[in-house]
Amino acid sequence: MNLAHHLARAAATRPDAPALARGDRVVASYAAMGLRVARVAAGLRALPGIAPGARVAIVMANAPVYAELFYACWWAGLAAVPVNAKLHAREIAFILDHSQADVVFVSAESAELVANAAREMDRAVPVIDVGSADFAALGRADAMAMWQTEADDLAWLFYTSGTTGRPKGAMLTHRNLLAMTTSYFLDIDPPQPGGTQIHAAPLSHGSGLYMLPSVAQGNCQLVPESGHFDPAELFDLFAIWPQVSMFAAPTMVKRLVDHPDAARASIDSLRVIVWGGAPMYVADIKAAIARFGYRFAQLYGQGESPMTITGMTRATLEAFARAGDDAALASAGSAQSVVQLRIADASDASLPVDTIGEILVRGDSVMKGYWRNPGATASALAGGWLHTGDVGSLDARALLTLRDRSKDLIISGGSNVYPREVEEVLLRHPAVAECSVIGIPDADWGESVLAFVVAREHGVVDAAALDRLCLENIARFKRPKTYRFLDALPKNNYGKVLKTELRVLAKQT
Ligand code: AMP
Repeated sequence: MNLAHHLARAAATRPDAPALARGDRVVASYAAMGLRVARVAAGLRALPGIAPGARVAIVMANAPVYAELFYACWWAGLAAVPVNAKLHAREIAFILDHSQADVVFVSAESAELVANAAREMDRAVPVIDVGSADFAALGRADAMAMWQTEADDLAWLFYTSGTTGRPKGAMLTHRNLLAMTTSYFLDIDPPQPGGTQIHAAPLSHGSGLYMLPSVAQGNCQLVPESGHFDPAELFDLFAIWPQVSMFAAPTMVKRLVDHPDAARASIDSLRVIVWGGAPMYVADIKAAIARFGYRFAQLYGQGESPMTITGMTRATLEAFARAGDDAALASAGSAQSVVQLRIADASDASLPVDTIGEILVRGDSVMKGYWRNPGATASALAGGWLHTGDVGSLDARALLTLRDRSKDLIISGGSNVYPREVEEVLLRHPAVAECSVIGIPDADWGESVLAFVVAREHGVVDAAALDRLCLENIARFKRPKTYRFLDALPKNNYGKVLKTELRVLAKQT
């Protein structure tokens, strides 16, 4: 089945319901969105070289047209390749090259960035600005009938920042995303027609996935006027829109709770904030409940099994909190309905209850593999189980506790920063002999990036030069906020850098 059937159904059953909104105004009903999507789909398919299965990259800030593009791709039998518009031009060039994108959609804010990326690319790719006459012409095509996709056809090529520093494209099929949608209703938040989904996080990543169950129940997709996360703006939106649902990373939840307007905000219409993407401390969960009531649910997933590994509904979370069950509150909940879960040792043997090991997942939400990366696919899906790279344990109640996220990953402002990627850039400086990057707690961003640097003998290097180097090569949010210069890095007998010792060192300012 094609994911776009959910849109067609909403257009038929709830034609006048708001489908897309920006700030305080509706920009399209479901009938209007359904028709536009069928037209843009036809326009897309008429472009030179675009056949079923072609990859359509989207490098744009959040906007209602983003949602239309996703559904136009699926309607036409094409694969969407959403790219984080905050990445560096070089990173974008890599993804556009690697995905073999056939066309790229940009908006006013991202046009220059993509033009810069195009100069770094091995191949030419047509670029269409959603504000241009070319895009308007796509929407004037005669509507096409929805393409009959197969369940295992590619729907979304989801680029994750690989720990190797090179992003990997998780191939998500229509089957994967339908399983994810079904599980969301069973395990995270039951359907509530007439509601509003606010997209304050990037549609290219987490928030875009939440669009699917929301469209499936015919709810409105709302993009804040700013296009991003701004607590004061969100409080205004909560006061206007009915039955609001929203995804937020734990750091975003904390910023909402701590905001001076939080106490005065009108939250009667706030239905649920679903957090995920990183662990949330029990004290923060309690503060969030004290401020906003039992309006929270949690899910644990990753690009390779999007939104769908474990989770807890609002009701379950409320029961844990009322019972004072801190261990359950600190957990990531239990396995979602469409997946099997087990904890395994290094040779993939299952481990008993309360024993820490790698989290393995199997089920219809698990990706088909990595695009053009058979080696990584074979190891990630060895034995038919997704190896999440996350470490945790299951207790006797089948609650999963994530003990450590994939060891050294840094999550700053809700975005992943992989140390190795930053280290590789720093090492390009001729005077840098060695470096190691870790995350340190940061009140505003959850974590911030700290780089330990060892200069070469007689080498001269300073923080400003390294900062310039990072600006030239990686996204701004990945740059180290702090540099510490050492004579040598602490290492074990095998010569491996001891990040645990660096973390201790970081605390001794
Ligand atoms: P991404 O693929 O960028 O969505 O990142 C997924 C990773 O975020 C997972 O592999 C986990 O390490 C972490 N993660 C996701 N959800 C949660 C959660 N609810 N609690 C703790 N960590 C999480």
